[in-house]
Amino acid sequence: MTIDSRAVFRFAPSPNGWLHLGHALSAILNFEAAERAGGRFLLRIEDIDAARAREEFVAGIFDDLRWLGLAWEEPVRRQSQHMADYAGALARLKGGGCVYPCVCTRSDIAQAVAEKERASGSLWTRDPDGAPLYPGTCRTRPRSEIGARLARGDGGAWRLDHARAAQLASGALTWTEIDSVGAPAAVPVDPALWGDVIVARRDIGTSYHVAVVVDDALQGVTHVIRGRDLYHATGVQRLLQELLGLPAPLYAHHRLVLDDSGAKLSKSLGAASLRDLRAGGATPADIRRMIGLPPRPQN
Ligand code: GLU
Repeated sequence: MTIDSRAVFRFAPSPNGWLHLGHALSAILNFEAAERAGGRFLLRIEDIDAARAREEFVAGIFDDLRWLGLAWEEPVRRQSQHMADYAGALARLKGGGCVYPCVCTRSDIAQAVAEKERASGSLWTRDPDGAPLYPGTCRTRPRSEIGARLARGDGGAWRLDHARAAQLASGALTWTEIDSVGAPAAVPVDPALWGDVIVARRDIGTSYHVAVVVDDALQGVTHVIRGRDLYHATGVQRLLQELLGLPAPLYAHHRLVLDDSGAKLSKSLGAASLRDLRAGGATPADIRRMIGLPPRPQN
């Protein structure tokens, strides 16, 4: 048996909309890094959110990437076909005693946060995305009450007990951030940054963070190149890797492609899709220019 020691890169879009220029930058950076390293380039479809994922967007991802001149290994992993792998990871977290069930609704949480803010006269801590941290209500809610609510069919999520998780993780955790210039940097993980983050959503039984670390490990991913908007998510993912006994890839978080007003491109704000740009006559070379990449060298 030969062990493939080549570097493994991946582009992992969620098919919740058409790809835009920010996706093109991520995909091309991964593809070209794999080429330079003589490594492998994988495409992964992150479609755990069945309510938002659509087949036409999956087909759009393949079309757009092919048009950009990228090629990837087959078969493409589709997360929706591997839910059992993520359930296995959740079972392991449960066995480790670092997760707990949560029956709070959005409005329960908003109310608890408002009460805390009223009582303290100061703003309750926000996560890096600006949302208030979960106030921990279900961590101390009697199990009998949680059981009764679940029996009533309310459904529940699972949350990471971040303080317990931090204790379980061996020593001070870091992830390795690499970029094209400078030496790799060890970035300290602060488990308190996201608080008791959800590891299994009530509606789908897993979460982006769990699915992504399980898949990166199962697919032998060695390098994760993705947008700066996921920089802080890496701390949660690194902690989960530690709890699940999974290897940690190297990370590089690239600049975001901004619109004319300096805002991050987003599907919901109607950022121009690659598909629309193509229909309007743009070429792959135009796309490279628009995202600040040099022309592709001709071989
Ligand atoms: N699926 C995620 C997204 O489309 C990216 C996941 C990742 O690169 O880690 O935002």
